[in-house]
Amino acid sequence: MSIRDTHRLLPGADGTAHHLYVDRFGPSGTGRKVYVQAGLHADEVPGMLVAAWLKTRLRALEEAGSLRAECVVLSVANPIGLGQAVLGYPLGRFDLASGRNFNRGFPMLAAQIGDAIEGRLNGFALHNRAVVREAWRELLDKAAPRHPVDDLQRTLMQLSIDADIVLDLHCSREAAMHIYTGEAIWNEAEPLARYLGARASLLAFDSGGQSFDEAHSLTWWQLQERFRGRYPIPNGCVSVTIEHRGQRDVSDELARQDAEAIISYLTYAGMIDAAVEPLPPLPHPATPLAGSEQFYAPATGVLLHRVEEGAHVQAGDEMFVVVDPVEGTRTAVHSSTSGVFYMRRDVRYVRAGDPLGRVTGEKTLRSGYLLGA
Ligand SMILES: [Zn+2]
Repeated sequence: MSIRDTHRLLPGADGTAHHLYVDRFGPSGTGRKVYVQAGLHADEVPGMLVAAWLKTRLRALEEAGSLRAECVVLSVANPIGLGQAVLGYPLGRFDLASGRNFNRGFPMLAAQIGDAIEGRLNGFALHNRAVVREAWRELLDKAAPRHPVDDLQRTLMQLSIDADIVLDLHCSREAAMHIYTGEAIWNEAEPLARYLGARASLLAFDSGGQSFDEAHSLTWWQLQERFRGRYPIPNGCVSVTIEHRGQRDVSDELARQDAEAIISYLTYAGMIDAAVEPLPPLPHPATPLAGSEQFYAPATGVLLHRVEEGAHVQAGDEMFVVVDPVEGTRTAVHSSTSGVFYMRRDVRYVRAGDPLGRVTGEKTLRSGYLLGA
């Protein structure tokens, strides 16, 4: 029987409270765990519906005795953001009290974990994985969050650091299905990209944003680097941010399709006792996140889109036109890379310098901070 735990977050003021509902399916104590959360950016609704469908499927699989792993699902991972609105518009990406992006600045603890486990490692990767997880948990448990957002981030990490698969369900503004994941774990994440039909798979070791998926993958990679040549440290988990298209792409058909893709991946990974679905081809090869071309508005005015999201474009293709509504002048923006136009902003009036959208690219173009605001 599935279990629901309720976790109360640190209140922001007297008399207020936010709660996380943590649904657990399948056997605990098998040593295998899957963690899925949706709505960390609380105005990104498609993932919440995917999570709802996923829970329906997991409940049925649990009743049939087919789950081989504990599956933890938070279909609303950010009640703080979900409760925010400004003048009638939902605002779930940033914490209104602090201005912080809910999916940036997660605690990065590789250095402290490394210090704590010196002398406790041996030549067995599975032993070292358990040692890392234990030290990580102790550090998170010891932290004393002062702000509700810190408590939210700490709690989401506490719930997920011992999972073998960690999926963070997001969406973009207007977008095709795409994913972000760690370069070191791409081989393990690739089947998920196939089942999802990801038009783009964007890889980085460190995007600089301390996002939730990187708080997992980058920590393991940093520990691997620290102990390289001395002790084997495994990848720890496969953590992936899934962008379930654009904010308005909310339908039962899409959500059900995406939930089935996740179930297929969990089956492939041995978490579900069922026949493995054949792996579909990967729509496009993975590309470095640092290779994506970011377009900016060259002028202020009305924005016209020339290319649909998800399209494959060639270098030189016209991507956008900005029309000055007073003078009628038009300024075009062309792609300088060939790749997939995987996301674009949803505004139709832009100011000079505003970001417009992104195309994948194979060559590294950017360095440092690679994510959007
Ligand atoms: Zn997001």
